[in-house]
Amino acid sequence: MARILIIEDEKDIAGALEYNFKKEKHETSVAYDGIQGLKLAQGYSPSLIILDIMLPGMDGLEICRKIKSNPKTEGIPIIILTAKSEEVDKIVGLELGADDYITKPFSMKELLARVKTILRRSEKKQIAAPDILKFDDLEIDSEKHQVSVLGKAVDLTAKEFQLLKYLAENKERVFSRDRLLDSVWGINVAIETRTVDVHVRRLREKLGKASRHIKTLRGVGYKFNV
Ligand code: CA
Repeated sequence: MARILIIEDEKDIAGALEYNFKKEKHETSVAYDGIQGLKLAQGYSPSLIILDIMLPGMDGLEICRKIKSNPKTEGIPIIILTAKSEEVDKIVGLELGADDYITKPFSMKELLARVKTILRRSEKKQIAAPDILKFDDLEIDSEKHQVSVLGKAVDLTAKEFQLLKYLAENKERVFSRDRLLDSVWGINVAIETRTVDVHVRRLREKLGKASRHIKTLRGVGYKFNV
């Protein structure tokens, strides 16, 4: 099951798409103009977007550009519907980042097949990049925001988690306290460097045996040892 956003002003086409996606057990949402379409693309978090080009409000090319240039929505696959073959040149030429396009009039069977392929591809992508860092006794799961030591969950604060994750992602690299403050706390935050030491101390306490991964380099800073 996927969430499919249909941005199409021709009600017959939108209706036919909706009918067929629902038959395939997908959830759908429809926008009949560009502005509403963009709003839904950002708020409805669809797994895929069917996007017409000629739309009232904002055209499909502009919508595509906006979706693909926003880090929050750039990963959403888009299939563009076009009425003219000249538009195809535009889509390809502008490198808008659309995942596929189909020219009207189109066969529903063909479109459903393409949707299936793209959904399968984006599922695979998600599986291929698990946000889990594994070391023999320590596991850091970014997606679940969870750390475990020898299979047992450890309760960390948000900052402790970010600090550990940052060090682990950059294992064997040495970081000064200032650098860690910039990277983990943010460059505009006015706090003292000993804040880093306090967090490292607490982090080590919570990690128990796995605390050996965080090494202090006197007069320099910290690093993550594998
Ligand atoms: Ca149209």
